[in-house]
Amino acid sequence: MKQRLLFLGPPGAGKGTQAQRLALREGLLHLSTGDLLRAEVHAGTPLGQEAQAVMARGELVSDALVLAIVRSRLEQHSGGWLLDGFPRNLAQAEALDQLLASLNQRIEKVVLLEVDDAVLIQRLLGRGRSDDNAVVIANRLVVYRDQTAPLIAHYEGLGLLSRLDAAGSIEEIDTRLASLLVD
Ligand code: ADP
Repeated sequence: MKQRLLFLGPPGAGKGTQAQRLALREGLLHLSTGDLLRAEVHAGTPLGQEAQAVMARGELVSDALVLAIVRSRLEQHSGGWLLDGFPRNLAQAEALDQLLASLNQRIEKVVLLEVDDAVLIQRLLGRGRSDDNAVVIANRLVVYRDQTAPLIAHYEGLGLLSRLDAAGSIEEIDTRLASLLVD
């Protein structure tokens, strides 16, 4: 099994759900920038205060802030990892490449979770997180198309991308994912 993975896909594709299950099963560090940012907001740290309004609008938090969070986690961890929600634009992808080079590590596979927009919107509306209302969801999808989707071609060009049909039940997707990741 690959040990250094990146999950890519629109909000609502199920990255967090699948990442959590896989990381637990394989003993990988699950690094979700969304979860880490929400924890900072909840704890009311200066970082969280800076991130809160941006997240509520569905925009991206600054690259520097997110990178600082990822850097500190990866520097303290020598085992396998699964990045979920990062990188989200090309600048973050380049910063990640530099960080990994300095740690003598590399991404082994990028999994793109693919789901139709109509399904995404249904899932997000059903989830009911504070940034899951119709207006903010629409903005997050625009931000995804404009800023994050270009990463698909980037990682495809590097020969790292695998596409995963992320429609269906959690177990079905998990089974498909597991078969993608066998060496
Ligand atoms: P989703 O994938 O459903 O949009 P996340 O939990 O991954 O949910 O992200 C929630 C919010 O956190 C994003 O809309 C954004 O404001 C912020 N965020 C998460 N990861 C990043 C990142 N890598 N760069 C900038 N902002 C981020």
